[in-house]
Amino acid sequence: LIDFPYKHVLVLGLAKSGEAAAKLLHHSGVQVRVNDQKPYEENPQARTLGDLGIDVITGSHPMSVLDGIDYVVKNPGIPYTNPIVDEAMRRELPVVTEVELAYRLNGDNMIGITGSNGKTTTTTLVYEMLKANDKGTKLAGNIGEVACEVAQTTSEKETMVVELSSFQLIGTETFKPHIAVFLNLYEAHLDYHKTMEHYAWSKSQLFAHQQANDFLVYNADQEIVRELVASANSQRVPFSLENKQPLGIWCDEEFLYYQDECVIALKDIMLAGKHNLENIMAAVGAAKLSGVTNKGIQQVLRTFSGVEHRMQFVKEVQGRNFYNDSKATNMLATKNALEAFEQPTILLAGGLDRGNALDDLGPYLKNVKAMILFGETAPKFKQLAIENGIETYDVVDNVKQAAEKAYRISEAGDVILLSPACASWDQYRTFEERGDMFMDAVHTLK
Ligand code: ADP
Repeated sequence: LIDFPYKHVLVLGLAKSGEAAAKLLHHSGVQVRVNDQKPYEENPQARTLGDLGIDVITGSHPMSVLDGIDYVVKNPGIPYTNPIVDEAMRRELPVVTEVELAYRLNGDNMIGITGSNGKTTTTTLVYEMLKANDKGTKLAGNIGEVACEVAQTTSEKETMVVELSSFQLIGTETFKPHIAVFLNLYEAHLDYHKTMEHYAWSKSQLFAHQQANDFLVYNADQEIVRELVASANSQRVPFSLENKQPLGIWCDEEFLYYQDECVIALKDIMLAGKHNLENIMAAVGAAKLSGVTNKGIQQVLRTFSGVEHRMQFVKEVQGRNFYNDSKATNMLATKNALEAFEQPTILLAGGLDRGNALDDLGPYLKNVKAMILFGETAPKFKQLAIENGIETYDVVDNVKQAAEKAYRISEAGDVILLSPACASWDQYRTFEERGDMFMDAVHTLK
């Protein structure tokens, strides 16, 4: 049960997280009211909560839902411009997301991970490393189950590894992870946050309430991150690809170190890409602070081939290495992917046309020997190939054909990389569906 000074709570927006929050508060003896846009008849979650005796208001957001309320739990997707949220803020009511409830319920032993890029990869790595050492571990947040639900089944001995978006962090009040991981900060989500300052501020809520016995693992190579974490009260543990870090995690040409201790040889790490080395250093920091042994860390890094659809090593077929990076729905992601390989590469790209030019990719194509293209942007990519002197290119109908075609024209030693640089919605429901089709095709190649 949640120990909570508030008596009348409004849960705004249902979905999985709202339902979990409403149930938790209701079972903890708090008076709960729920408000969701979707009409009652089409809203199974509202009906479930209604059956429990919770006050459910659906179909619209009348201002009267705030009557008598002293605390608001909102879905992270609902913007602060929503009139109810706006009015709640004006009345100086706390407006939080369910992560705050998870913390209040069971927050002593949390690892919280945020950043603009690499959250899912790093969260998964930390989780696997803790598991490799038989540390009781639960995964939660953006990546999987709703945090306040997981918190209910996590024992005091177990660690909750939580992936946190800026939307979740902005809605925190007392929340603090014992170990915080701050990966990086790039311009993103400015449609929601409006300014970079606000985006940075929301990310800094990761460590804003940390105390002297907590830890903050952070990216020392980014000035904006260094500046932000300067205000933290916790013990700072830097990671860097550029400089030796006597108090943190760093690399030379051959090895990865924690302080002055060699943790693993870089050649033993399976995950490809410089950006992933950043994620790995961050994960090693959190793992070491949690007492994971080097053996446990090595075991994970030697075998972990990536989170699905994110630079995931699929398979080697006759000396060709296939990678699935279907999650690369923009050019930055594809640049990262291309930078990861020194071998001759066949790039599979294309998808939804958002109207932007592809010229920025040019400098990253130096190892690309051929391009197999699909989707709305295929003609633009064809142009890019021509402009960059790539003589072999072809347009096909889908990623299955692209995998087959790439294999036919490849030689042993090549990398065959699906990293589309575009969203998938012109042809697929999701980037997962696109990646699955590619992997299925790879698995049937002879
Ligand atoms: P997130 O959960 O933050 O979206 P993921 O781990 O799912 O991050 O990775 C998504 C994509 O972001 C990857 O395919 C890669 O292109 C890029 N990426 C991952 N880690 C980093 C990093 N540390 N720095 C820059 N880009 C990254």
